[in-house]
Amino acid sequence: MIPVTKPFLPPQEEYQKYLNGIWKREWLTNMGPLASELEMELKAYLNLKHLLYVTNGTIALQMAIKALELKGEIITTPFSFVATTSSIVWEGCQPVFVDIEEDSLNIDATKIEEAITEKTSAILATHVYGNPCDVEKIQEIAGKHNLKVIYDGAHAFGVRINDQSIFNYGDISICSLHATKLYHSVEGGLLITKDPVLLKKLAFIRNFGFNGPENFAELGINGKNSEFHAAMGLVNLKYIQDIHEKRKVVTERYNQNLSHFAARRSIWNSMATKNYAYYPLIFEDEDLMRKCIDFLNSHEIFTRRYFYPSLANTLPYISSKAFEVTDDIAKRVLCLPLFYDLTLEEVDLICRLLLRIQNN
Ligand SMILES: *Cc1c(COP(=O)(O)O)cnc(C)c1O
Repeated sequence: MIPVTKPFLPPQEEYQKYLNGIWKREWLTNMGPLASELEMELKAYLNLKHLLYVTNGTIALQMAIKALELKGEIITTPFSFVATTSSIVWEGCQPVFVDIEEDSLNIDATKIEEAITEKTSAILATHVYGNPCDVEKIQEIAGKHNLKVIYDGAHAFGVRINDQSIFNYGDISICSLHATKLYHSVEGGLLITKDPVLLKKLAFIRNFGFNGPENFAELGINGKNSEFHAAMGLVNLKYIQDIHEKRKVVTERYNQNLSHFAARRSIWNSMATKNYAYYPLIFEDEDLMRKCIDFLNSHEIFTRRYFYPSLANTLPYISSKAFEVTDDIAKRVLCLPLFYDLTLEEVDLICRLLLRIQNN
């Protein structure tokens, strides 16, 4: 059986070493030494000034919206994971969708302005599959209309653009360290901002708003993460180069084997590095895609229609019109298996099966 994804697991002894320390200290959560160490190591690795380690990517999105005191409408993409939209609704705001670009599959920055009303307070865009949005253009629009910008960088761990981390863009960027993501701490999330005042506010929000044992600075929530999760993050970070390299090799093998296959790839931001988080194929023909899914399934190989369907017409708590490009792409996009220990023999098998269906 070949799943679409599999979490990276380090050698168990290495995790065990961290557990020994936790047992010795008897400090399990509430910003313990391992959580602080992970924050320091991630800041160094990603070359970021400020960063907060939190419970998960979804709470990071919610905390970002809360900290920026957003109200009214937030412009966002219908081509993302549900958490991008649900966080907006959860924080009492209204998502206003803007269609995506054919090439990058990110929000179409040229269509943002026509969606702005006097109720618009922010833009929340996703770097889809880790491919950076048009961050310059979005910043320009936000500046002109006095809007805040949040990036859902759940897929974008390690991506660099214009010689810096993609997480440096926007008022706040978030990342997810969920087990299914490229780099993970079982559950976990990151909040990144360049603004020290905003950082302080987010730190209060993460810990119920506490400012000292008997004082509160903010309305807060429990956004902390545990020493056990931080330990997994610390061990996995030692393998990040290796994880990156393995995924690159697999991706290049897919590219090579499928160069004559009737599907295209999304076009990567030319200023950005890649992180090989996913291997999406955009089929020319939905019918061929369905046949491929079934044929691969019959060989115990599993793919994922990610993202399908469009968020604009799936969520029971939202009423929205349909979006041409999003609806069209969502119907024809398929992510192939991609994970750390996927072998090249397995990639070759998957490709042979795909080509067999096409040539049938
Ligand atoms: C995974 C993901 C999230 C949510 O992150 P969690 O850590 O699972 O809460 C949000 N947005 C996108 C685009 C994601 O892929």
